[in-house]
Amino acid sequence: MPEVFAELVGQDEAVDTLRRAVGAAAAVLRAPVSHPTGPGRTAVAEATGPDGGGTGPDPGAGMTHAWIFTGPPGSGRSVAARAFAAALQCVHGTGCGSCAGCHTTMTGTHADVRLVVPDGLSIGVNEMRALVLRAASTPSGGRWQVVIISDADRLTEAAGNALLKAIEEPPPRTVFLLCAPSTHPDDISVTIRSRCRVVPLRQPSAGAVAEVLVRRDGIAPDVAEWAASAAQGHVGRARRLAGDPEARTRRDTVLAVPRRLTGVGAAFDAASALIEAAEAEAAATVAETDTAERAALQTALGAGGTGRGAAGAMRGAAGQLKDLEKRQKSRATRAQRDALDRALVDLAGFYRDALVAALRAPVAPVHTDTVAMARAGAEKWDAEGALRRLEAVLECRTAIEANVKPKIAVEAMMLALWKG
Ligand SMILES: [Zn+2]
Repeated sequence: MPEVFAELVGQDEAVDTLRRAVGAAAAVLRAPVSHPTGPGRTAVAEATGPDGGGTGPDPGAGMTHAWIFTGPPGSGRSVAARAFAAALQCVHGTGCGSCAGCHTTMTGTHADVRLVVPDGLSIGVNEMRALVLRAASTPSGGRWQVVIISDADRLTEAAGNALLKAIEEPPPRTVFLLCAPSTHPDDISVTIRSRCRVVPLRQPSAGAVAEVLVRRDGIAPDVAEWAASAAQGHVGRARRLAGDPEARTRRDTVLAVPRRLTGVGAAFDAASALIEAAEAEAAATVAETDTAERAALQTALGAGGTGRGAAGAMRGAAGQLKDLEKRQKSRATRAQRDALDRALVDLAGFYRDALVAALRAPVAPVHTDTVAMARAGAEKWDAEGALRRLEAVLECRTAIEANVKPKIAVEAMMLALWKG
């Protein structure tokens, strides 16, 4: 396995910050625990504070106990958090990628690294309380207890408060890694933000994404270039587009929308097609995880099937299966929402290309394969018409985010796109 930070695409600054923090963290572990720390303050928090300042001239050098990784979807927030966690658990204190600490963290089996993936639309308070409690225990590996919260913007208010308490009075050796789109108060409460150090990730350039697809996934350079551009900086999506013909078909369905809009009936048909494509995309995204989880649970249950506690295990098994099904169902709902949003981003990319063409702006298109169609649209609509259509797509995203039923929002958008 390569060095853990190699997974981060086009994020040199963030990697730099994290490497220095890892070095500082290793120094904390080496330091003798002679001086007493006040109740509820870790040695780490005291040494550096949330912004790492206070002790030295270099604010990026220190380690701290709470971090927020921000960036647009696909920029690798959770990848960065996981790599950082691995480097903290690395027995060499570097993130070598090959020791047991790195390896188990990267594969999700390290005993002292907990990953919270909110399966539903928000993370509940009970889940958070249980997590905070467990995170307070002494790390079994003697290094750090790491809690990664992959979509911290989806915390409920009560869950956020439970987390805040833990961050305000951090157990020694516990590190919280939060991931969120931004530090806007809509995403992260101001009080939590004030306790954390922020690591901003950028949208990686198409070139950087293409490079990693070629190097890591062995994808042909021309396919990688096309997929990186079409995915608009979303690394995971670029990889799916490059490797999965069905993902390409679903994208074609989305990009066929503009030329399908020939009347009211066609607009409603296009709305259904778009939603179906998003549902299929979502199903493909969760299928892999679902299968792996079911297999893992079956193995775990099968292992306890013949011993003395078999009857108890059977009773427990039914409950666990039910829990898993519930979790998977709520994750499917969320995946559908995410997939629909990505489809809308694709569509917005098309109208943006049309606008760029109408303005004759010297900017590279998002969708290199629909340039001719975007140009034809530009001739018909002019810049103003292209802009109105682009706005209709963005309004649809906003409406869905504000909990308007997706079908209703998408139908309204299709009518607006048709009428112009
Ligand atoms: Zn290592």
